[in-house]
Amino acid sequence: MAIRFDNTYAQMPDRFFERVRPARHPSAQLLRINTPLAIELGIDPAWLESETGAAVLAGNNIPDGADPIAQAYAGHQFGGWVPQLGDGRAVLLGELIDHEGQRRDLQLKGAGRTPWSRGGDGKSPLGPVLREYVVSEAMAALGVPATRALGAVATGEEVQREEPRPGGVLARVAASHIRVGTFQYFHARDDREALRLLGEHVIARHYPELLGQEDPWMALLGAVLKRQASLVAKWMQLGFVHGVMNTDNMAVSGETIDFGPCAFLDTFSFGKVFSSIDRGGRYAWDQQPLIAHWNLVRFAETLLPLVDLAEGEKVEAAEDVLAGFEDHFQEEYYRGFADKLGLRVLGSDTGPWIRSTLELLENGHVDFTRFFACLGDAARGQESSLRSGFRDQDPLNSWLVEWHALTESQPDVEIMRTRNPWRIPRNHRIEELITAAESDDYAPFHRFVDALAHPFEKDSRFADLEAAPRPEECIDETFCGT
Ligand code: AMP
Ligand code: MG
Repeated sequence: MAIRFDNTYAQMPDRFFERVRPARHPSAQLLRINTPLAIELGIDPAWLESETGAAVLAGNNIPDGADPIAQAYAGHQFGGWVPQLGDGRAVLLGELIDHEGQRRDLQLKGAGRTPWSRGGDGKSPLGPVLREYVVSEAMAALGVPATRALGAVATGEEVQREEPRPGGVLARVAASHIRVGTFQYFHARDDREALRLLGEHVIARHYPELLGQEDPWMALLGAVLKRQASLVAKWMQLGFVHGVMNTDNMAVSGETIDFGPCAFLDTFSFGKVFSSIDRGGRYAWDQQPLIAHWNLVRFAETLLPLVDLAEGEKVEAAEDVLAGFEDHFQEEYYRGFADKLGLRVLGSDTGPWIRSTLELLENGHVDFTRFFACLGDAARGQESSLRSGFRDQDPLNSWLVEWHALTESQPDVEIMRTRNPWRIPRNHRIEELITAAESDDYAPFHRFVDALAHPFEKDSRFADLEAAPRPEECIDETFCGT
């Protein structure tokens, strides 16, 4: 068997999913496979690149052992409750065990209609496929838990959006695709039995340290909460804005999932929003911890029916766990920014100092990523690149005096180097590579993926990708692209 499937979700009761077939795309063209990831998954890259392997990624060949399903879920979208969402354009081929013994999902996104497609066509334009490929792989290389891209194909067919667009399919790998919204789906149906089975599946799969606990549900809430707090702190330290932190886009595994209208900040701004559909700024850069907490409250609600306590006591127990979010988040957020700044010790002034650093960037319209990368140069005695990011040097001069005092002029250069990337998937570059790909030029896509595989190493071959965009190149809005 070319892919050794070991499917467990498809063994759950029927109401967890619908059995489906991915759409066939006879004219599909393989664009890229992810060789290191294939090896990690025990898939022979040569096979994956062959006609047979490519046919699997295009939905033309259901491999032996696959048991294709579309998963049921619900969710709060921009705060509004939607009782039924589900995989409307994605098909889970099955699960496999990777080299470290971890169970991973293999899913085709853009694989055609399913019973959950509602009015949609189940397809994906090529643009969002390439965007997710680039950003999810960059995230992983940046050290952030994220779903991965195993391969991408151009379908050779058009999908109808505002204008016709070339279509694509992404082969996505995830620790699982179980979302807060999956729990909400069964909670909304008062299906306690399903909630228990789902909860047990999640514990066995993602939190095995909780196995055997008599009443593990509040411990599960706490464990998911910790991973989400850490995840959001990591996003923010890279200037990442997820853009659609709906409960159906929050994976209980703690991986970043669903790279829709997401983006990395160029110039820093606390309230920055990219998503063209996020008019109220609900998912702005600095709102992300609040929203993660809000989503975790929704998750807690789904677990309460399972908890073996009196009604009032349950709520109190959940509130206790949820109250821990702030501390977990702050710890990760402060520690992470302290590392970026080369601070060896944290004190009571660390929080305000991080805040004032970010204010320095916001007030000076300074590029977030370049500031921290160039601060690494400054830590090694070369201040010119840092200085070139500031039109007005006075605020920077005062800030540098404080920075030297706080670090005792001995910033932790090594930790700074491993925390401050030179290259991130900047929005204007993603748009460029998508435009090129839509005219059959995939070279910028390949070059960008290669450049982002080692984001912490300055590389003169990729100097253009390390530069901040010129003002006229800045892209302030991203679209869902569904
Ligand atoms: P997302 O934007 O990925 O969070 O998707 C929200 C919901 O819309 C999910 O249930 C998707 O499966 C569904 N959806 C998004 N795009 C399509 C499409 N083109 N066809 C069918 N369903 C879709
Ligand atoms: Mg989604």
